Amino acid sequence: MALFLALPLALLSMVLLAWPILRRGRPASGPISPLDPLEEVRRRQQQIYEEIQTLILDHELGNVRHEEYEEELRALRLKAAHALQEQDQLQQAMARLEEEMENEALELRKSWGTVRAVKRCASCGGEMDAKAVVCPRCALSPDRDLSTEEKAHD
Ligand SMILES: [Zn+2]
Repeated sequence: MALFLALPLALLSMVLLAWPILRRGRPASGPISPLDPLEEVRRRQQQIYEEIQTLILDHELGNVRHEEYEEELRALRLKAAHALQEQDQLQQAMARLEEEMENEALELRKSWGTVRAVKRCASCGGEMDAKAVVCPRCALSPDRDLSTEEKAHD
């Protein structure tokens, strides 16, 4: 009888442990477009974690021999690690691409005369239209005063 209580609890703690890893790197705001390649990697990660859960459950229920369980668990963990690595690389590449696109858009708008002056964002240091209310790079207010936060260290 106790097993029926222990198992869901073990699975729950597993999910709670894996959750920060699964959530890692998810943008703080904005919906994720279905074309987002990151979403695909995350789905694969989710799948791997589900496989791990199933494997642990099968092992608990005695459906899998211990050696087999250990071997499969190792393989799944390796797969999860690779997926995480892929996610990191994708995120870096996409951040670089976004930065380049933002720079190019700004240059174009400067050449068209729609942007007459530029300023630097106080949050991320990126260049933008001096009239911009929200920084297109970090989506924070460019005039956000960081000095008050820095003064706290003095
Ligand atoms: Zn910014």
